[in-house]
Amino acid sequence: MANEILIYAEVTKSGYIHPVFFALAAKAQELSAKLGGAEVSALIITSGGKTELFKEGFEKCGFDKVYAVEGEKFENYNTEIFAAAAIDIIKEVQPEIFLIGATTQGRDLAPRISSSIHTGLTADCIELDINEKGQLAATRPTFGGKLMATILCKNKPQMATVRPGVFKPLEEDVVKNTQIIYKTPSVDVSPKVELLEFIKGVSEELNDIDSAEIIVAGGKGMKNAEGFKLLAELAKTLGGVVGASRGAVDMGLAEHNIQIGQTGKTVSPKLYIACGISGAIQHIVGMEASKRIIAINLDSEAPIFDVADIGYVGDAFEVIPQLIEKLKNPA
Ligand SMILES: Cc1cc2nc3c(=O)[nH]c(=O)nc-3n(C[C@H](O)[C@H](O)[C@H](O)COP(=O)(O)OP(=O)(O)OC[C@H]3O[C@@H](n4cnc5c(N)ncnc54)[C@H](O)[C@@H]3O)c2cc1C
Repeated sequence: MANEILIYAEVTKSGYIHPVFFALAAKAQELSAKLGGAEVSALIITSGGKTELFKEGFEKCGFDKVYAVEGEKFENYNTEIFAAAAIDIIKEVQPEIFLIGATTQGRDLAPRISSSIHTGLTADCIELDINEKGQLAATRPTFGGKLMATILCKNKPQMATVRPGVFKPLEEDVVKNTQIIYKTPSVDVSPKVELLEFIKGVSEELNDIDSAEIIVAGGKGMKNAEGFKLLAELAKTLGGVVGASRGAVDMGLAEHNIQIGQTGKTVSPKLYIACGISGAIQHIVGMEASKRIIAINLDSEAPIFDVADIGYVGDAFEVIPQLIEKLKNPA
């Protein structure tokens, strides 16, 4: 049905729906209003009857419909199988707009779908709107983040992937009586890749950075592994996770999967503590939506202080241990 906004609900390996989906759900309500009340629907591809477990969540996020594809072959993500299922549903439903989170899975799935159904895809967006002609206006950084490009898609569905962390989930529920429609798409593919074993990365376990409420991030100023150990201790004391600037990642102090910024992740935790990070624009775009920002830096002129709510000019190697001590033993 036309005039429908479809959102991909990614079920993670840990068995929950990726938070970016709820942020997209909130944005879709806005887009729907601008399209004169377009239906908002979700596509979930999973196994083991999980769709029912998420029903209440779909209802509270204002979904009119959920297209559910379930089966054993969808237990583990496989690009070809998931893309084939999604393509079949899209061809039938013919949504006006199809949105996917720019997660690792979303970045893999979206281009395969868009190329197969001959439509355009604006990847890694940080803003979505409806223009005066009723088209999806998808905005993403370009030229190394120096410019923002707003891109229109000529074909249907208009597809975009959106960075996790840029939109906020609904503040209040928009309760609807969501209709769950089970589909059995034709998935006539013999995948070239087979999953033999799933090995969860250690850093993945410790760093669920997309959904963390507290992030202690380190930059080049944290200098060495000892510096990052301090960050980990502070993060643990606060119940948060560790993030990093690209400077720190380039120095080999942290893995790329915890890099925050233009070529890393976009985050919006309740508290972001930037330690030894100068505050280059490419870093700021990934964390400025945080609710509270604390910066610790030796240089009082560091641009990070321009976005910080609280700034501390000092040596992180002295400040952080004192902070940990105070948190562990409040006076
Ligand atoms: C296309 C492109 C994409 C990019 N994408 C990203 C991205 O996704 N994320 C990102 O972060 N960057 C990105 N960058 C790189 C970005 O421009 C900066 O180079 C990078 O963010 C700098 O990292 P940093 O702040 O850790 O290092 P620096 O800029 O070197 O800053 C280190 C800071 O630590 C402070 N310091 C030193 N010692 C101490 C101490 N003992 N205690 C306290 N403070 C101390 C210094 O005063 C300084 O401000 C990108 C660049 C380009 C061109």
